[in-house]
Amino acid sequence: MKEPIFFQPVFKEMLWGGSRLRSEYGYPIPSDHTGEAWVISAHPHGDCQAVSGPFRGKTLSWLWSNHPELFGNTGGSEFPLLVKIIDARDNLSIQVHPDDAYAKSHENGSLGKTECWYVLDCDPGATIVVGHNAESKEALRRMIDEKQWSDLIRTRPIKKGDFFQIEPGTVHAIQKGTLILETQQSSDITYRLYDYDRLQNGRPRELHIEKSIDVIRCPHRDFACTEKPLQGDGFSRVNLVTCPFYQVDKWDIETSVSIPHTYPFLIVSVLEGTGTVSKVPVKKGDHFILPYGYGSFLTEGSLSLITSHI
Ligand code: ZN
Repeated sequence: MKEPIFFQPVFKEMLWGGSRLRSEYGYPIPSDHTGEAWVISAHPHGDCQAVSGPFRGKTLSWLWSNHPELFGNTGGSEFPLLVKIIDARDNLSIQVHPDDAYAKSHENGSLGKTECWYVLDCDPGATIVVGHNAESKEALRRMIDEKQWSDLIRTRPIKKGDFFQIEPGTVHAIQKGTLILETQQSSDITYRLYDYDRLQNGRPRELHIEKSIDVIRCPHRDFACTEKPLQGDGFSRVNLVTCPFYQVDKWDIETSVSIPHTYPFLIVSVLEGTGTVSKVPVKKGDHFILPYGYGSFLTEGSLSLITSHI
């Protein structure tokens, strides 16, 4: 079977979430504090169901286990990527993720988490946290002990279309008024460093100070994103990042383009517009996987896409 497999998002209600997943994408969110739509995920905390084709109703983890040929028989016990849309009405906690080696030994063999953010939209004046100002682990521990949060964390302004690669060990936080598409390793391991002393159901959320100090890279180094734009006839493509875990590209298409697909599988997210992919209708907010062997495909219509693959 060689057809796109569309998936139903899994929604996550969050202290900091909002209602833009409904107002922007028409998703049937459970409440007005919905923070995340896991749009392509086989993670046990949110396993997406296929909503099209012969595998309708089956989860992505089931497909990965039972039809490895769809994914080029790449091996590995779990589908390696997770794509989310995040609606931050309020600030997310200041956090950090472990790498594969630390997660494997401290988190029951879980994958670590490298993630990247494409800013879909944000309020004027919106900011984001990436990095910190401690020169050493000793300085980091002292600043945390003394709650010098504003001196410690690096906040920077953002605008629509910005892109950030967040390596393991990077202190980070998405902040209020921001809509982001996140592509990440399939992992749900987050160490919360600081949560603005907020209460959830009358209690502060759990912090993970020691694990955070273990994994935070000191001093911080900014990841140098070398976005490589490619201008074609009626389209532009930008390679946002290529790292050991994924490659992510942004496509802005005016009328039509042939997109190559020579990968074990290709994830496609429709950010804007309506059109077709190999004559199959697609629209803003759709997310689908093109299986192994699907080959190059033709899009039609004015579309803005993000594609990702391992
Ligand atoms: Zn994160």
